[in-house]
Amino acid sequence: VAKKKVKNKRPSKVWEKYKVEGSGIKRASTCPKCGSGIFLAEHKDRWFCGTCHYTLFKEKKSK
Ligand SMILES: [Zn+2]
Repeated sequence: VAKKKVKNKRPSKVWEKYKVEGSGIKRASTCPKCGSGIFLAEHKDRWFCGTCHYTLFKEKKSK
């Protein structure tokens, strides 16, 4: 795997935040572009990567 140029703009505190919300982040996906370690931020109807702006829309199972 080639090294990707990823700027670590975010402080490590972000990680701790995710750990605290452990039960919730389990359902979150990691960014396919940035690789594991970069989690997608959860929004109402989508996941969003703050690093590369990748957006993954959630599929509504109900309705
Ligand atoms: Zn990304």
